Amino acid sequence: ILYNELIAFSRRLQQDTYQEIKTPLIMHESLWHTSGHYQNYKENMYFTQIEEQVHCVRPMNCPSSVMVYKEGLHSYRALPLRMSEYGLVHRYELSGVLHGLFRVRTFTQDDAHIFCMPEQIQDEVAGVLDLAARLYSAFNFVEISYALSTKPEKAIGDDAWWEQATNALALAMQSRGINFTIQEGEGAFYGPKIEIRIKDTMGRQWQCGTVQVDPFLPQNFDISYVSSDQSRQRPVMIHRAIYGSIERFMGIILEHFKGRL
Ligand code: ZN
Repeated sequence: ILYNELIAFSRRLQQDTYQEIKTPLIMHESLWHTSGHYQNYKENMYFTQIEEQVHCVRPMNCPSSVMVYKEGLHSYRALPLRMSEYGLVHRYELSGVLHGLFRVRTFTQDDAHIFCMPEQIQDEVAGVLDLAARLYSAFNFVEISYALSTKPEKAIGDDAWWEQATNALALAMQSRGINFTIQEGEGAFYGPKIEIRIKDTMGRQWQCGTVQVDPFLPQNFDISYVSSDQSRQRPVMIHRAIYGSIERFMGIILEHFKGRL
């Protein structure tokens, strides 16, 4: 009941602004080579053989969202395109680190991917921040803290791009009167991100929400949109989750409300 209610609530908040998709759990290994997960995340993935070909059980939902985007031709007028998915993922973790609902080998993310033009990043991120604030406040999480992770030492993309993307995230938070800390060099190698942490009634902080700017997957999968001058341009992808893992969020609220749901 709890799991279904959490999803139903998220769905209600997103129904006018997101398109919900549902994609397969198992996909051919070639997809994971293109996405880079095979090279960088292989030890946490599960594999299976189908017709003598290696297939992967997905550890993340992102590549399949990109595949859905790739199915169509997109005009700049159709952007931003916001795709949500309550996506089941599997990640191999050593049995010693498994811990209640907090660290499990399979969980569901309230995932979404926003495909947009670079100049739309700020507004889109502000929209995600609004959604996150609405969702957390419904559970009485009143103390929310925000951190902006910037360009790490090992990064791809030029400085001008990083500055533009990082500024967009900072301006989105400022536009909502949000104070944030800066985590210097803590961004992913492909883009800056915002981490959102909530504080429970026992004073513990939990990082649940993330907003991540990513030009890398759109490039790897060679996706584009048709701009106003008919040229093909590359969209930026924003990854975002608000509950994070729904199973883990269940654990957090069980303790937050001391079991009195
Ligand atoms: Zn993603």
